[in-house]
Amino acid sequence: MAKGKLRFNTKLIHAGIEPDPTTGAVMTPIYQTSTYHQSSPGIHKGFEYSRTGNPTRKVLENNLAALENGKYGLCFGSGIAAIDALMKTLEPGDEVISTNDLYGGSYRLFTKIYEKFGIKFTFISMRDLQTLEKAISEKTKMIWAETPTNPMMNIIDIKALSEVAKEKGITLVVDNTFATPYLQRPLDLGADVVMHSLTKYIGGHSDVVMGALICKDDKLAEKLYFIQNSSGAICGPMDSFLVLRGIKTLHLRVQRHCENGARIAKYLKEHPKVEAVYWPGFEDHPNHHIAKSQMKDFGGMLSFSLKGNHKEDAFKLMSSFEVFTLAESLGGVESLVCHPVTMTHAAIPKEERESAGVVDSLIRLSVGVEDIEDLIEDLENALSKL
Ligand SMILES: *Cc1c(COP(=O)(O)O)cnc(C)c1O
Repeated sequence: MAKGKLRFNTKLIHAGIEPDPTTGAVMTPIYQTSTYHQSSPGIHKGFEYSRTGNPTRKVLENNLAALENGKYGLCFGSGIAAIDALMKTLEPGDEVISTNDLYGGSYRLFTKIYEKFGIKFTFISMRDLQTLEKAISEKTKMIWAETPTNPMMNIIDIKALSEVAKEKGITLVVDNTFATPYLQRPLDLGADVVMHSLTKYIGGHSDVVMGALICKDDKLAEKLYFIQNSSGAICGPMDSFLVLRGIKTLHLRVQRHCENGARIAKYLKEHPKVEAVYWPGFEDHPNHHIAKSQMKDFGGMLSFSLKGNHKEDAFKLMSSFEVFTLAESLGGVESLVCHPVTMTHAAIPKEERESAGVVDSLIRLSVGVEDIEDLIEDLENALSKL
């Protein structure tokens, strides 16, 4: 059976992975080496120096390419390093249109680093495409979309976006960190590049920081490999191994994340002390129908705000949890809670933040894979203290 034809869950475990040719080891070895023997100058077995390529990293890169139905995968030392590499394909004067409630670190990279080098960024809501068409100019070279967005769980129609991008010859990039390829595959919907923070669901165990880019286009891939090698923000073999191990259970974990997420979203929506719950699985979510059509399920991320919108209440709640851990990041097996205004979104100016809905009492949950009864009891108990 050709490995290219495997179904998704089988690909998680097998795509790009062969028993080690020298020993038969079933698990990909950690090739902890910086350099490789050459039989005569320039004659080697495909690897010459580990910045350029490493066998453990290569297996992960090929596996990720297969999961997203891409052709090329490239891994980096962090999600941000992956974004940084992609930004280096642009030239001064180029313009990028991005979602307005995006990951705070992406916003910081765009505005504090790349604007300085003459790249212009426009931040818009991509919930309706008229705003997008108005924002496009002749200089627009890239559209940057995140869906579901962080932390408001807005859903953007990737297919509709890709139609606009294709017509104008603009590269469409989708940050697929929240959804993972188990729930959503942007390249199949017409995107040109998928970006991941592997730190989150794909690694899945909160033990590694890494990122990836996946694409199909030969020319773009060539540019990206050149940048990966020339700028050098690569990841190590040990971390590559950990992510490969995490990927093998992605389907099982994400299924449980989704089940637990749904139960908690519904519980919170009924709670008298909760003002609003943001979760794409609700039928009254503004883009629920798009979520339903482009995602397999609704994910384990959700946000909610409190009646009265007091920051003090949010703080009290977050310090009362016993199972939810107050911490940045998301997508690990353990449930995490964070306060976007002071933690992940502190870099975004107040007006911009609030116009996107990121208010003082907003709390974001990354729902883990623990027993749901324990998670709900933890929420019940913490909310009862307000
Ligand atoms: C975490 C995250 C990033 C950045 O990735 P790092 O691995 O932390 O560098 C980018 N986008 C999203 C949506 C994220 O959650």
